[in-house]
Formats: sequence, structure tokens, C-alpha cells
Amino acid sequence: MSVLAMKGVEKSYGAVKALDGVDLSLEESRFVGLLGPNGAGKSTLFQIIAGLFVPDAGEVSLFGLTHREDGPEIRRRMGVVFQARSVDLDMSIRANLRFHGRLFGLRGRALNARIDALAEQFGLAELVSRPVRTLSGGQQRKVEIARALINDPDLIIMDEPSAGLDTPSRRALVADIRKLAREQKVAVLWATHLVDEVEEADDVVMLVKGRVVAQGTPEALIAQSGADDLTDAYSSLTG
Ligand code: ADP
Ligand code: MG
Repeated sequence: MSVLAMKGVEKSYGAVKALDGVDLSLEESRFVGLLGPNGAGKSTLFQIIAGLFVPDAGEVSLFGLTHREDGPEIRRRMGVVFQARSVDLDMSIRANLRFHGRLFGLRGRALNARIDALAEQFGLAELVSRPVRTLSGGQQRKVEIARALINDPDLIIMDEPSAGLDTPSRRALVADIRKLAREQKVAVLWATHLVDEVEEADDVVMLVKGRVVAQGTPEALIAQSGADDLTDAYSSLTG
């Protein structure tokens, strides 16, 4: 099933062309890394996928639907983790997830059971009553990801989800999300400027100055550029 299809997407901020004709597709249960340096247009692309911006040109469909015609249905099937942290630090994990779950019409026992299952899955079960402020950076990120999964989405988009984490926490988070994609059939679009986070991705899309300069499996990208590893491939393909 096609989860996301974009064709010829363009977006400018005044004279700055942030996206310059982007084609991108994502299939069910795939873990796709969107790799590009700062300013490449990753966050702009995410805002468009999330339906917060309308592109200046091009087509975007999610699950075969468009934001213009079926925004609520798309949002029901999608989870979003933005680059900037957006959990309430003074509320507990449970209160944060409960608030978000209510937005999707979850209530009462069903909502609590969903929260407990997600807390368990992310190793937060002992911490659900603690204010988010008292958690480590890695745990706070997991709360955001758990929250984005509350509606059992078919697609989750994550914009630099590892920002601010140390290397072991970053690695662990990547592994958790890959497992999620595989076992729970969630398609994941993971944006980052760090090559090591997408070395094990199913596909990697390299974005530079608003253009997709290369895409494919890590192995294909390495072969295509005659490099030894993905870091070298990234350097040579992105100039
Ligand atoms: P990334 O997330 O890959 O760092 P962004 O999508 O944030 O890239 O930015 C892409 C380009 O658009 C950059 O040149 C950035 O400076 C510019 N840009 C992003 N947001 C705005 C904005 N709100 N107003 C003006 N320029 C912006
Ligand atoms: Mg960004």
C-alpha cells in the first residue's frame, strides 16, 4: 500500500526556495531515512506532509487521500514528532498522553489501556505518573513518540527525533523505531543530518538545497557512488 506519494513539490519563503521539485514515495511498514544538512528543506517537507503548509506546486497524497479533501482522515492515520519539543513538562506522562488521546476520541478504560501498553513498549511503565520535566532527554523523546502513536497510526513522521540525545540513546531510539516499523506495520519517515542513524534504513532519501539528489537502499547508494560506506556515499553524492 502507498502511504505517501509526493510529486514535484515546491515551496518558497519569499526569495528562498526551500523545496525545489521533490518526488518522494513511502510504502507500508518501511523505515525511510530523510538525510540532509541543515537548511536542506527537511522540516519544510514535514510541515507539508503534516498538512500545516500547502505547497506552491506539486501533488501530495497520503493513503491515496489529499489534505484538501480528507484532512481529518489523514490526521487520524498519522503521527507526527516535530523537531521542537512539544510535551508539557509540568504534566505527567499519563496526563500528556491522555490529553492527546482525547483529541482522537479515546476515553476512559480504553485510553488508559492504550497508555499503559505504550508506556510498557517504551520502557516508561514505572514513570507514567512523573512530571515529564523529571525525565532524561531520551525518556522525554520517548514520551513524544509514544504520544504520536496513541492513535495507532499507519505512518509516523519524525523530524530530527534524536536531537539532544547522546550516542547510545540515539542508537537505542533508532533500533526501537525500526522494530516498531517492522512489527507493527508502521511506515516511518525519519529526518536527520546524521548518517549513522539511517545506515540500517530500508531506504535513504538524500535532500540537498530542496532537491532529492539520491535515493535507494543504503547498499544501492554505496554501490552507485563507488564508496566504502554510507558516510562516504553521502559526501560524494551530496558534493
Ligand atoms: P532543514 O529542516 O533541513 O534544516 P528547513 O526546512 O528548516 O530545513 O529550511 C529550508 C530553507 O528554508 C532554509 O534555507 C531555511 O533558512 C528556510 N526557511 C525555513 N523556514 C523558514 C521561514 N519560516 N521563513 C523563511 N525561511 C525559512
Ligand atoms: Mg529541520
